[in-house]
Amino acid sequence: MSSVKEIPAVWIAGGTCGGCSVSVLNAVVPSIKNVLIDELVPGRHISLKFHTNISAGSGDPVIKVIENVGEKNENEFLLIVEGAVSTAEEGIFCSVGEKNHSPVAIRQWVVDLGKKAMAVIALGTCSAFGGIPGGRPNPSRVRAVMDIFKEEKIKTPLINIPGCPPHPDWFIGTVAKILIMGLPKAEELDDWLRPKEFYGTLIHENCPRRPYFDEGKFAKKFGDPGCLYELGCKGPITYADCPLRQWNNGVNWCIRAGMGCQGCTQPEFPDLLGSFYEKLTDVDVPKIGEYWTRREG
Ligand code: SF4
Ligand code: SF4
Repeated sequence: MSSVKEIPAVWIAGGTCGGCSVSVLNAVVPSIKNVLIDELVPGRHISLKFHTNISAGSGDPVIKVIENVGEKNENEFLLIVEGAVSTAEEGIFCSVGEKNHSPVAIRQWVVDLGKKAMAVIALGTCSAFGGIPGGRPNPSRVRAVMDIFKEEKIKTPLINIPGCPPHPDWFIGTVAKILIMGLPKAEELDDWLRPKEFYGTLIHENCPRRPYFDEGKFAKKFGDPGCLYELGCKGPITYADCPLRQWNNGVNWCIRAGMGCQGCTQPEFPDLLGSFYEKLTDVDVPKIGEYWTRREG
């Protein structure tokens, strides 16, 4: 008999472009095969029971699989929610499967499974904060998972992994840590429930163009040397480790490619950050480490 402990996981998707799935499926080390088929950590293994895009089955049998995970594994499975949760017209703008010949709104799944899960990961900025589907005028009135939990008084531990899309390491690192060390403690998450090891520093703190900023040398057009602040960079208010980790297995990242950071991991993204190429306004650029000093104080 195998001594490997299997942790069932269900991955559902609401209002999303699917980019969070694409990003995570492109993980290099460990590969998605390692995560889903092998022991991610010794003696522990994720058993992905359902994924909106990659599950081979369809129809009622698949819906039964999702229901069974909730019923048979209470407090023992991970729920991953990709995409925002539509709430207008009783959530009918986004549904998964049917019950008694009526579509089941994603909001209903988030509530039903969210109550029973051992933890919920809101993957991507849409799920964590509303993101692009939540931008004005938000006709389907999408909400973040944490808003739905608040409304329904659901106390299941929730971890936000924002990003548009999120870096695969942010997701896989979080899942691996849960398998090895259990759920994150409150002090390991920031005010927005993001793991500090990935979202603990400002882009601006580690940006290779920071010396230009400090010297007041600002690029006037794309391709110029200089800091991208005046061309709309949101790095001074954005928490993520992109400058250190980089993207596509360390090949490059937004600012090194010559584009300002768009603040994609922030709850204000996209509406409240101004347009992509507009300089941040009304922002006191925080000093390095100020956020954490304030928080600890
Ligand atoms: S404003 Fe943007 S480009 Fe300039 S130093 Fe800060 S993060 Fe880097
Ligand atoms: S640099 Fe900014 S916009 Fe680019 S991925 Fe990181 S947080 Fe998102």
